[in-house]
Amino acid sequence: MKLGDFEIHLLVAGRMRFDGGLVFGVVPKVVWERYKPADDRNLVELACVGAVVRLGGKVIVCETGIGAKLDEKRARQVDLREPEGLLAALGRLGIRPEEVDVVLSTHLHWDHAGGFTRTSPGGGVAITFPKAKHFYQRREFDYALEPDPRSKAAYLAEDFVPVAEAGLVEFVDGDAEILPGVELRFTGGHTPGNQVVIFRSGELAVAMCGDLVGVQPHLRRAWNSGGDLDVVTALQQKGRLLDEAARHRWLLLLGHEAEHPAGYVDAAGAWTPEPALGAV
Ligand SMILES: [Zn+2]
Repeated sequence: MKLGDFEIHLLVAGRMRFDGGLVFGVVPKVVWERYKPADDRNLVELACVGAVVRLGGKVIVCETGIGAKLDEKRARQVDLREPEGLLAALGRLGIRPEEVDVVLSTHLHWDHAGGFTRTSPGGGVAITFPKAKHFYQRREFDYALEPDPRSKAAYLAEDFVPVAEAGLVEFVDGDAEILPGVELRFTGGHTPGNQVVIFRSGELAVAMCGDLVGVQPHLRRAWNSGGDLDVVTALQQKGRLLDEAARHRWLLLLGHEAEHPAGYVDAAGAWTPEPALGAV
């Protein structure tokens, strides 16, 4: 899809299932189940949503999903399918990993940064996009290295450390415009260094919400991911984002929505999918 100066494609970098309690936190199951039915293991269907953007001759990958390094036990737990979905989608667009200039993610959890690296033929870990500059919020990286007990399982060093060791990381502190029209908005909330990625061209904008608005039911102001570390900040930042998106008709990408993850929200929270932006 063309949007002002940039061309954007929707990626699905893996389909999977998470426990409904993790997705909806304190919202009672009898309520959330009306919007996302759970299977007999209480799992709800999700996807890892990303985007590839061409802007000013650069290729930008935003969100990389889980990737294919996940151990068998955890892959089974989350019913992971299409672990190579990101690279397959890029292939369909005719983009080789070496041609990617910039890699972005909303945070460094395993289901967002997993695709930064892959298993190399020799058994070690190789960087998926070896020529790309990867932008990390410094406090997210610092936290990921020494997480709290609950977050330990959510950060896998093999996802994000090799990229830093290879000198491919540019650290960011807070809000930043990393290229003309490409903004990182620091939010915190879900994780200490969580951010939203916003692509702008004139009046037009696309925002990658990540886990701030993971699935359509999270468009409700009081609902949030059960994984949020700082709930109040997450809700405040989501409110701000949804207000702006409704007012200026921003195109939103919901980080884990399996059905119609790209669309527009109105002031009442109603969702209208963007039909021109289907997954590659
Ligand atoms: Zn996530």
